[in-house]
Amino acid sequence: MITLSSPVKNLKGVGPAKAAALRRLGITTVDDILHHFPSGYTFAPPVTNGPLIEGQRATIVGIVWSVRVFERNFEATFSTGVRVIWFGGRYLRDSIFPNSILMVSGIVTYDGFVNPAWKVYKGAGEEGGPYDASDVNTVTYPATSGVTSKNIERLIQQVLTAMPTVVPQYRAIHRPRTQAEADEARNFFKYAELFYMQLALALRQAKRTRELPNIQCVISPHRIADYFPFSFTEGQQLAIASIKADLCRPWAMNRLLQGDVGSGKTAVAAYVAIVVAFNRGQTAILCPTEILARQHYETVKGYFERAGAQCDLVVGGRASSNMNLTADIVVGTTALLSDTIRWRNLGLVIIDEQHKFGVEQRAALRRQGNPHVLVMTATPIPRTMAMTVFGDLDVSTIRDMPPGRRPVETCWYTRLDWRAAERIRKELSAGRQVYVVCPRIEALDDEMRAVKDVWQEYRTLFPDASVEILHGRMPPAKKQAVAKWWSDPTPGGRILVSTTVVEVGVDNPKATVMVIENAERFGLAQLHQLRGRVGRGPDQSYCFLLSDSDCSEARARLRVMEQTTDGFEIAEADLRQRGPGDLLSVKQHGLPDLKIADLIEDYDMLVEARKAAREMVAAGPLPPDVQVELENRFGENLYLGDAA
Ligand code: ADP
Ligand code: MG
Repeated sequence: MITLSSPVKNLKGVGPAKAAALRRLGITTVDDILHHFPSGYTFAPPVTNGPLIEGQRATIVGIVWSVRVFERNFEATFSTGVRVIWFGGRYLRDSIFPNSILMVSGIVTYDGFVNPAWKVYKGAGEEGGPYDASDVNTVTYPATSGVTSKNIERLIQQVLTAMPTVVPQYRAIHRPRTQAEADEARNFFKYAELFYMQLALALRQAKRTRELPNIQCVISPHRIADYFPFSFTEGQQLAIASIKADLCRPWAMNRLLQGDVGSGKTAVAAYVAIVVAFNRGQTAILCPTEILARQHYETVKGYFERAGAQCDLVVGGRASSNMNLTADIVVGTTALLSDTIRWRNLGLVIIDEQHKFGVEQRAALRRQGNPHVLVMTATPIPRTMAMTVFGDLDVSTIRDMPPGRRPVETCWYTRLDWRAAERIRKELSAGRQVYVVCPRIEALDDEMRAVKDVWQEYRTLFPDASVEILHGRMPPAKKQAVAKWWSDPTPGGRILVSTTVVEVGVDNPKATVMVIENAERFGLAQLHQLRGRVGRGPDQSYCFLLSDSDCSEARARLRVMEQTTDGFEIAEADLRQRGPGDLLSVKQHGLPDLKIADLIEDYDMLVEARKAAREMVAAGPLPPDVQVELENRFGENLYLGDAA
């Protein structure tokens, strides 16, 4: 007997080789193969009695007059004279005989059909009809070497015959009579997929609110804002208020703070770290690189000193040794989450730039008990992501900028021409600083400019400036020396030629020009990040995008950059241009990949499924059949990928 949980190798025609090939498609059980949905259908036209017109699709039914095998091929001739050839179809001699009633469907050739879909009616009851064209509809399945689409179609046919009581939507999706029937069945499975994904997320969130955090804060009467040399913007104040409320709840915060580069997220992070310090909890601030950790440390140290909180920087060898951390706030890289490091009371983990933070780090975070988590990102999360992989995150968005910021003036030139050079000269002589970013450290081909060549060129072009190089392959001491030179407060025209190591976080208000060489090599999000390195002080800043590429997508990106400085607009444009593909892999976030639903195309359905799932979780224990199906779909993954 075949049931949903039977292994596919119990099916007829599946030996060890087929079973292995099916496994490569993720199919091991009958249930899996039923969820291996067609990638396309070709619907046969209704049976015709009229003339066959060459080049058109047609379906005919008739009596076979004669058959013939030649080499590996098979030929059948109808009593009407229509000839049908199946190349490579020798096996059909076991199915099609003289006097068989045969239906074929395909494109008409000059005297019949070549390799059409076919069906033989042989039982007495079937003789003479009713003929149903769905019998010769062709269904296409995703296949792989060792198992063809046709193999899969036959196996599914076998399963559907063996299990007459299986839900009718399986029959409808695998053997639809019409496109409408197929669409309806596809919607059924899409909704189920989205619903169970949302249910898993809703359960995760519900579970989170049942566990106590490492620290539950009470708000002190101190005026923390007084420790900062500016007054917070409205956006910052709203974010701080939500985070403070989260910190006081009896469960751990899981919040995303998004705001464009320079909107003041780091200042918000510093504020809430002080709240935690006043409650005797520690805060870890995790940065994607050591350079950024040092940079951050230098910026936030001042705020903390004024508040009387101790701040520590843990990078390099220190981060990998056994140690007890006692400072209130510790800045470092993700190495801070390693098991060799012990905390006095880790209350809050702040992660800067979420896209560098992967699944392993999430697991490491879980081992630190249940700290509050704040993830900061300058790349706005598209709405579909907010509903799925970040579906259990609360989101705060800073939409305004500190006062006095002027949008960075952005120009796209084919090369560094006199207008740009003149501007750079002016800025340098006013004691300001210039970033030059290149895609490569060393030249591999003539098309891409390398750090070292560009460095030579700028030294010649701007002989009065001091020009240095920074890239990831330099020894750490050298990098630090350059970082120090770059942030030296004494005025002096400086040019930093680097790779994208400056992409995130670096804060230098005296930098007013960003030159991006081979700008076509960078994506929109990256270009926006890079541009965000300038315009952080009171002076008008400039961004020069240099590219002579004639790739139309690259040109479209550069045009967007010229037209807007709004990170949210840029993120939308990015999503439109790149398509959902690379952004939307939900698997890396501990959720199974979607098989049939499409997060962008089926967005409305996603919203509906989310609402229904949340209502079901809020209503109490899940109905037993829903619980069973949930475990079927997620297994032990159900609670993986918690926290952030
Ligand atoms: P982000 O992390 O969002 O890129 P930062 O917190 O690093 O932004 O802030 C960018 C710059 O703006 C820093 O030099 C910071 O001191 C300054 N800044 C932050 N908030 C304000 C504010 N409300 N008013 C004036 N300057 C601010
Ligand atoms: Mg920042």
